[in-house]
Amino acid sequence: MTTQTISLSIGGAEHGTANSFERLNPISGAVATRAAAATVDDAKAAADAASRALPAWSALGPNARRAALNKAADALEAKAEDFVAAMMAEIGATEGWARFNLMLAVSMVREAAALTTQIGGEVIPSDKPGCIAMASREAAGVVLGIAPWNAPIILGVRAIAVPLACGNTVILKASELCPRTHALIIEAFIEAGLGDGIVNMISNAPKDAGDVVGAMIDHPAVRRINFTGSTNVGRIIAKRAAENLKPVLLELGGKAPMLVLDDADLDEAVKAAAFGAFMNQGQICMSTERLIVVDSIADAFAEKFKAKVNTLAVGDPREGNTPLGAVADQKTVSHVQALIADAIAQGATQLNGGDAKGVLMPATVIDHVTPSMKLFRDESFGPVVAIIRANDEAHAIELANDTEYGLSAAVFTRDTARGLRVAKQIKSGMCHINGPTVHDEAQMPFGGVKSSGYGRFGGKAGIEAFTELRWITMETEPGHYPI
Ligand code: NAD
Repeated sequence: MTTQTISLSIGGAEHGTANSFERLNPISGAVATRAAAATVDDAKAAADAASRALPAWSALGPNARRAALNKAADALEAKAEDFVAAMMAEIGATEGWARFNLMLAVSMVREAAALTTQIGGEVIPSDKPGCIAMASREAAGVVLGIAPWNAPIILGVRAIAVPLACGNTVILKASELCPRTHALIIEAFIEAGLGDGIVNMISNAPKDAGDVVGAMIDHPAVRRINFTGSTNVGRIIAKRAAENLKPVLLELGGKAPMLVLDDADLDEAVKAAAFGAFMNQGQICMSTERLIVVDSIADAFAEKFKAKVNTLAVGDPREGNTPLGAVADQKTVSHVQALIADAIAQGATQLNGGDAKGVLMPATVIDHVTPSMKLFRDESFGPVVAIIRANDEAHAIELANDTEYGLSAAVFTRDTARGLRVAKQIKSGMCHINGPTVHDEAQMPFGGVKSSGYGRFGGKAGIEAFTELRWITMETEPGHYPI
């Protein structure tokens, strides 16, 4: 495949830059994409272009915005083969992960399109005679969305779809790891008529991320920031936004627990655990990182789980259809290996796995993990899962909450009322009873607590995040004033 060169997209036009950076294919090491490296001035120009486009786009009626977004959904779908090729080349994704990404992303755009007529308000009873008081939702302004590489179509689209539905104009800050995949999203939106500054894209060399993102957060036209990525960078972005008194929505890291209680259907639990831990090689913020299993069934669960995981082959996604593809880079391999080594040195046992071949890492299960091990606490963001044994239900809940993170969680039990009682005691933004920790749908309120961030993306929660609620009054009788 020939190397693609990606430009910035400012005001609906391709914008060249003096400098560029390269994203290498993680498997072959060949250049996958060459992308424009924005300067601080380019970043400001994108915010200016989005600001110029704001009055017309936000004044457009809801059905016109809906039609444009539905067209964008069609345009995204039409690029399926390009998306698959880009995700394979840039992040070593499997074809299945790429197609699933596109399907959910398209559904997010259609859901956003449906929301345009739901951005309502209310009439609030006033104590003042003849006063009609209203609360109405209006576009906030320019929205800056910063998306990561791991679920690139879903998270790139999520960063801009509901903001656009609410009448905002947007800048997508592409990930350095998948600029081509993110550029395809912008191409689709522009083809659908959202050019001329309604949708813009900035890519930057990794070393410039702080300055380029910082300039956009500081820009007066930017009124909302959403960031999906690591907790460390989330903190930097939240601080910069706070200095500017700008609201920010943060979707950060996770260390999702899946609790398997004594009365669980073990076969169902095993299927959900394997999917939750190893889909996209564990590189999902909701990935199951900790299997907290009650002692009385732990041996039986571990045996069945090991057998299932042994069937999950890893391979080069360009050559065949294995359930696991590559991890994003060698750094992930070293990080995961260090977590495993620390756990083994402290007495944990490895049930399966083996040596990585470059960035192709086998699915690995580590049993008898305890809270003193790094694997219990640090997000692996790779194909390894810990089994932690709990004395009973109360202990399982305590272990589940013994983490700085709180994004997703799951509980397996045949007694669904018990499942609900347990779910209510787990401190996380999302919890699934008898389902995997990995679950996302466009209309759901997606988000975390604690170090996993704050704010919610999906459905009506997204409208709250990306609009300004205004109080408007209208006097219908002569006024009476005390002075
Ligand atoms: P990352 O935080 O390393 O990078 C994300 C973005 O931050 C990049 O675009 C980068 O340019 C930018 N950045 C880097 N340094 C910066 C700085 N100093 N100032 C401003 N911006 C800066 O994350 P990643 O490696 O791309 O993604 C993996 C992480 O994302 C994992 O921790 C994962 O859990 C998390 N994630 C969360 C969700 C969610 O919905 N909660 C979804 C997917 C991934």
